[in-house]
Amino acid sequence: MGNMNKRVLVVGGGIAGLTAAWELSKFNINVILVEKTCFLGGHAIQFCCKATDECLTCGACSAEEMLQNVVNEPGIQVHLATEIKQITKNDGYSVSLKQSALPDDQNAKGIIKAFSKNNSPLYVITDKNACSNIPEGAVEFNELGFEGNIDVDAIILASGFKTFDAGEKGTYGYGKFKNIVTGLDLERIKRENGFIVRPSDNKEPQKIAFIQCVGSRDENLGNLWCSQVCCPYALRMARGIKFRNPDADITIFYMDIQNAGKNAFHFYDKCKEEFNFIRNIPVDLYPMEGDKLRTRYLNDEDGSAVEDVFDMVALSVGITPGSDNKILSETLGIDLDIDGFFACTDKLNRTSTLKDGIFIAGTVQGPKSIPASMAHASQAAGEVLKHLGVSG
Ligand code: SF4
Ligand code: SF4
Repeated sequence: MGNMNKRVLVVGGGIAGLTAAWELSKFNINVILVEKTCFLGGHAIQFCCKATDECLTCGACSAEEMLQNVVNEPGIQVHLATEIKQITKNDGYSVSLKQSALPDDQNAKGIIKAFSKNNSPLYVITDKNACSNIPEGAVEFNELGFEGNIDVDAIILASGFKTFDAGEKGTYGYGKFKNIVTGLDLERIKRENGFIVRPSDNKEPQKIAFIQCVGSRDENLGNLWCSQVCCPYALRMARGIKFRNPDADITIFYMDIQNAGKNAFHFYDKCKEEFNFIRNIPVDLYPMEGDKLRTRYLNDEDGSAVEDVFDMVALSVGITPGSDNKILSETLGIDLDIDGFFACTDKLNRTSTLKDGIFIAGTVQGPKSIPASMAHASQAAGEVLKHLGVSG
């Protein structure tokens, strides 16, 4: 019970932050979890189940489970719409917290809804005047944030990543043509409908292309890293589409297939039987009648130019460093690596930083899948317990 005197700040309420908070709470550590947005769950809570006739081990259900664990755990104090303003070293750290600003894209309709029914609150009002119908239990944005100072014994930074903005690859026409979506859009579409539909007409697409490595492994953008997750996510999504509609015609444009997870080789063999794999990345997409998309690419066998038309195109956007990484690095006094993710200082402990008592967890350190983020966050929690002298 003595551990209750120990306090740990977890920054970020995505899958890594939730996991770290939950793991620490099991040891009666008093956890303060701050999340900059209005809801817990981060990107992972927006993902759908990809099961076919078997579980495809995507990890999306773990996010839901972890969210439930955290919101029902009295030992974890959650502050939404809150971020770090300043930290000062004392025996541990004195941290000044402030209410975060509402992201521009969340102010559109005067009210925003959480992705999961397990979120509390479920609705946040951003502009009362723009809301004609306010649901029960909705909370105003200004009531959410926390301002004040707290003293903590350690900090875990788990502020996550930013998905690559597909609009930066202007030749694909993302945002201009309705049936060009990102991998994250696909997750949300499936989560909402139970299957994939075209945004233009809500009908199931018959001919679909996935374009891999959008915003990753791209010298022109300076994003040289492999985002690791977009191949397995796209292939699982494609298998789900094919399972529902065996006649669906699916093409994967790729450079290399990054495979991960259990039974990866067996899984990839199945994919090769079911999809057309083209080792070439098309550079542009053009709109066609019926909201279809036309593209050109080079045949990977003889180099000849080929044209093809799809009902829907999914851009497998990569993982990029969080938009606050620079400012967080200055506030916390810990370094970023050459790509802009947080650098770990010890290869054997990839949660370590230059600052005593500050640890990193999840994609803030580099691209990771949901299960890998959870494993990294559990390791960070373990390192915090060691740091606090609590036997784990
Ligand atoms: S791991 Fe993924 S595919 Fe398996 S049950 Fe969970 S959400 Fe569905
Ligand atoms: S995981 Fe696949 S799509 Fe993503 S960057 Fe790596 S190779 Fe490209």
